[in-house]
Amino acid sequence: MLLTALAVAVTPTFVQVAAPPPAQAATRLAAPLKNDTYVLSSYYGPRCMPVRGSSTYHLGQDFGAASGTDVRAVAAGKVTRAGAIRGFGQWVVIDHVVDGVKFSSLYAHLIDGDRRVKAGQKVKKGQHIGDVGSTGTSTSPHLHLEIWRGGYGSGKAVDPLRFLRKRGVDLTTRSIRNYPRSVPSSCTYYTAAKVSFRTGPGTGYSKIRTIQANLKLTAEPGAGSGEWRQVTRKGRTGWIHRDYVSPSYTSHGTRYVLPSSLNLRSGPSASNKVRVRLPHDARLTLLRDGYRNGVWQRVRYGSKNGWVSARHIALDRDGAQIVPDRTGKTFAWVDPKTLNMRKGRSASTDRVLKLRRDERVRQLGRVSNGWVKVRHDGRTGYVSAVYLRSRR
Ligand SMILES: [Zn+2]
Repeated sequence: MLLTALAVAVTPTFVQVAAPPPAQAATRLAAPLKNDTYVLSSYYGPRCMPVRGSSTYHLGQDFGAASGTDVRAVAAGKVTRAGAIRGFGQWVVIDHVVDGVKFSSLYAHLIDGDRRVKAGQKVKKGQHIGDVGSTGTSTSPHLHLEIWRGGYGSGKAVDPLRFLRKRGVDLTTRSIRNYPRSVPSSCTYYTAAKVSFRTGPGTGYSKIRTIQANLKLTAEPGAGSGEWRQVTRKGRTGWIHRDYVSPSYTSHGTRYVLPSSLNLRSGPSASNKVRVRLPHDARLTLLRDGYRNGVWQRVRYGSKNGWVSARHIALDRDGAQIVPDRTGKTFAWVDPKTLNMRKGRSASTDRVLKLRRDERVRQLGRVSNGWVKVRHDGRTGYVSAVYLRSRR
């Protein structure tokens, strides 16, 4: 910008300055994931912390997708980082210059950051640079994409959806589904352990008091500074290190109900009274003291505590969660009532057979374009991977 300004300033007035060329349409970028292989889950902007220690301002866009789905470079550029990093798990960062605009794209939670590309390598627009995984701070397979105008770290993280839409890629219309884009007015958290409540974002600030574990805090979405979170406890606002702030009671994690309904019981046995019938996808909080006989799990649902059958809850809610076991064999279970196994990787190819809910399939290859080759009952074909689950 500075150079341009100088060049204009020194142009002698008697020289006919050529009119600037008409505004060119921006160079079209590439989508990071193929059409119909993802759901738009968590958006750029202020949010409540989704997991303990995570950010409260989402600097990127999350795409829920099947583990193994191809991730592509949004533009040609040079890889500056590829490998492991705390938080993002396995990542790739690429520097680009497109239409004179310098920016970086960042792809996180990949299966293996330096399997497809290496730092220093040049990549083409649309090149396969990684595979969707769930490494780092993540609860289910998804791509976390950031776009940094001016370059990663030194520039500014902008909304990837807006940035790409301005350059010809509307990711909202290519998805399987878009979660509602809503920001709550207030977040509820819990202290994950006994912790100091301070007047400012750092250990150099004085201590207001000590707060015991598992006590309720409230916060505004986005309220934080670096590794510190601004929270309110009993009317007093102060700061706590992010590692001690958890969105779930006792911080033992969140699980989701797999079947279409599940009984929440008053005790760890099928003869205990049903407190409430939990719907499919109901969000449960695991309680510290609760895992009985490897079968029953103590959970909280809204304001109710109780017990559920542990095999009917899972870490993941969305997309397929196909994860190979240690022997290399990979099994997955059909989630919807029925699912067509087809001859090819497309819904327009012939049906081989109709699978039913909870039937088990063996995965025979990597997920590609949202489809995966499977075997069931001696027959081989392809299914859309988002309809498979990693557990029965
Ligand atoms: Zn994210």
